[in-house]
Amino acid sequence: MRPIRTSNFFCALFAVALLCSFGSSARAERLSHDVIPAHYTLTLTPDLKAATFNGVEQIDVQATIPVHAITLNSADIQIQSASVEAAGKKQTASVSFDPAREQVTLSLPQEIPAGQALIRIHYTGILNDKLRGFYLSKTKRRNYAVTQFESTDARRAFPSFDEPAFKATFDITLVVDKGDTAISNGPIIGDTPGPGPDMHTLHFLTTPRMSTYLVAFLVGDFQCTAGEQDGVAIRVCATPDKVSLTPFGLDVAKYVLHYYDNYFGIPYPLKKLDLIGLPDFEAGAMENFGAITYRETDLLIDPRTASIGSKKEVAEVIAHEMAHQWFGDLVTMQWWNNVWLNEGFATWMENKPVAAMHPEWHIDQDVVEQLDGTLNLDAQPTTRTIRAKADTREEIEQMFDGISYGKASDVLLMVENYLGEETFRKGVHAYLSAHLYGNATAEDFWSAQTETSHKPVDKIMDSLVAQPGVPLLTFSEPSGGRVSVAQRRFFLSPSINADPNQKWTLPVCFKSASSTPECDVLTPTATSLKAPSSALFFANAAGEGYYRSRYPADVYANIVAHVETDLTPTERISLLGDEWAQVRANTASVGDYLDLAAASKTDPNAAVINAGFGALDAVFERIATTQKERDALAAWVRRTYAPEYAKLPPPAADDSANTRELRAHLFAILGELGKDPGVLAQAREISEKYIADPASVDATLAQTALGIAARNGDEALFDKLQKVYETSTNPEIQIGALRLLAQFDNPALEERSLEYAVSGKVRNQDAAIQVAISMFMGGERRDRAWQFVQSNWNRIQGLLTPELGNVLVESTGSFCTEDASKQVQNFFSAHPVASADQGVKHAAERIQGCIELRSNQEPQLKTWLAEQKLM
Ligand SMILES: [Zn+2]
Repeated sequence: MRPIRTSNFFCALFAVALLCSFGSSARAERLSHDVIPAHYTLTLTPDLKAATFNGVEQIDVQATIPVHAITLNSADIQIQSASVEAAGKKQTASVSFDPAREQVTLSLPQEIPAGQALIRIHYTGILNDKLRGFYLSKTKRRNYAVTQFESTDARRAFPSFDEPAFKATFDITLVVDKGDTAISNGPIIGDTPGPGPDMHTLHFLTTPRMSTYLVAFLVGDFQCTAGEQDGVAIRVCATPDKVSLTPFGLDVAKYVLHYYDNYFGIPYPLKKLDLIGLPDFEAGAMENFGAITYRETDLLIDPRTASIGSKKEVAEVIAHEMAHQWFGDLVTMQWWNNVWLNEGFATWMENKPVAAMHPEWHIDQDVVEQLDGTLNLDAQPTTRTIRAKADTREEIEQMFDGISYGKASDVLLMVENYLGEETFRKGVHAYLSAHLYGNATAEDFWSAQTETSHKPVDKIMDSLVAQPGVPLLTFSEPSGGRVSVAQRRFFLSPSINADPNQKWTLPVCFKSASSTPECDVLTPTATSLKAPSSALFFANAAGEGYYRSRYPADVYANIVAHVETDLTPTERISLLGDEWAQVRANTASVGDYLDLAAASKTDPNAAVINAGFGALDAVFERIATTQKERDALAAWVRRTYAPEYAKLPPPAADDSANTRELRAHLFAILGELGKDPGVLAQAREISEKYIADPASVDATLAQTALGIAARNGDEALFDKLQKVYETSTNPEIQIGALRLLAQFDNPALEERSLEYAVSGKVRNQDAAIQVAISMFMGGERRDRAWQFVQSNWNRIQGLLTPELGNVLVESTGSFCTEDASKQVQNFFSAHPVASADQGVKHAAERIQGCIELRSNQEPQLKTWLAEQKLM
């Protein structure tokens, strides 16, 4: 699964919020292993108008001991009849539900012996509007019936042994309206008219052994673009009005399938693969085996008018879900406590084929930028261990966060960097081959890596998976071929004292004179490492280590002096991240950071410039408190970056992706932070052109320009954007326009945007995000948005799913005063949001972090601005 993303600008702001948990409070009691499913035969007849469905189900099971009763998972389902046949005898079962446990028990008059048995159930269910289970997805034209089962919602579509280790095969039949089609995990192998004159019946090929959470059925008038790769039929499908936006995704899917066939050394296991864009979808995408579902913005784009950021995002989400076809679907975690094996792996893997397909996108730089964000998330006190207890349904849902995705993928990246790409690949192959169509644990994975590499991967992984937090490595000046190093846990907040006994086993890779880093393993008892042979001492080669580094002053000064000549772009990103983390921890001053940013201003890599943007924004929003300070900072921004922007030639059709992004990032820094009058005027002009004809200007620059234009925009621009949202059939442009409505710095237009978000005219999947964006805009806009939330809570509450509720809750972390912190805590304790308790804690932590940062660094900012003769 991939969590929701919003437009590129907001990725940075949303990084914490969107990777947080969702869930409900129902308990996920484990089923017994007395009865084990082998095969399901399912016939479903959805009624899209009445929003109900009928199901006929048979489950072939194996009783391991004689039993009187069989318990399955079931939720929101009415059972008409149930029977069990065993040893040649059929018995009618009496049915009792346990809604709190989401279970149903079929009790039998007589015990059945150990051995095979057949369960038969006739039932009905509802096509709900909650974006989970078997649910209704709507367009203006019609309804669709679609599914989203991960983690524990297959039970809303069919009574089942709904745990990942109960793998079984599935024969699926869907009875649908004559003019409709259906998509499921396997290809259609039969299409017969009836029952009745207006229906037809579609039979799908039996699936391989798989977990229930990966089953999918999608019913409606989907249309697809089809292709083929390595003997696999691939289609990208959408509602008919959007089928013209499918070819980009198809090209990516073909490339990625071939790449993975080679990388894993195991061919894609099914005969077909469908990727389907759905109008209503809670998450970003879902890896159902052979039938991957997507939010429309994560699959359907027009490459002629899409920004580089949107192309990267779509390609990565496709590659992420396709990686799951092997890692997750073919081999599945034994239980949800190891969900990081799925998500960390897919997040790490998604970058490889995309980087190979588009080397000009410099994906490695984006990866290190994201790693930096994860280090900050994990340096908060409320972080958790990668592997954590996940017994209740709520705990399972909370596993899908920045730790399972970000930290787990970063740990894999570090281990791969240490072992070498080919050795690591062999370990992956060995692990998958040993567990095909089965389940596995974290130990299985690192044992395979340890065996193939003959290196202590088990100790390294165990130390990172079982312990929370970020290591801080403090180096001395190397001498005599050794370098002393001390390790301790790093917290962003200077007021937290780390447990001195917490230590890691970590591969530390130093920058070397050649392209291969010089690595050594730091153990909990070691106090020094073999020093590298290179003249420049830099302790995080390629920036791919999962730790923060600190150097003695003269070593650090030497690194800064060589930052643009000797470090690679990813190492510069890592250095900027380390320095900003030191500012937050109050072991460096904001002036040191601004000096380092200035030393990197000529960097020709877009991602390096962008890496500084987030921190600069925080200096404006979270450290500076007066307009005078912000004006002085804006003058510094113009003085520093305007000459760099002026050096770039005007946009041209053959510009590289990096040039497009570099221009857009400098434009954003000058417009949003520098308030450069020339840039502001240009932003409006470019925006008008883009709205009139998206193909007439460079989309990467235009989307940045639109953000600036909206923040400084008037009612006429608001009206135009609202019209784009209401009429466009291109999801990137349509949702982009909607997001912009929340960014106007004008009380009346902000009110209009907030009202509009909760009016019912905006899809539920987007409403809470709109409100959260207003909160993230900071300053008076945030204060007004918060007033709106409180006085309209009854309307807003009804629009929240658990995931979206958490986005909203976490947006309150953008405040920066004790008073606001109390208000937020009080409000959410009086108005609790489902499973957002972690979100409320995160918000409180962010507010405290801001208060601390401001009180420590604002005086230093004043001093630095005076030294710069800016104030
Ligand atoms: Zn995933």
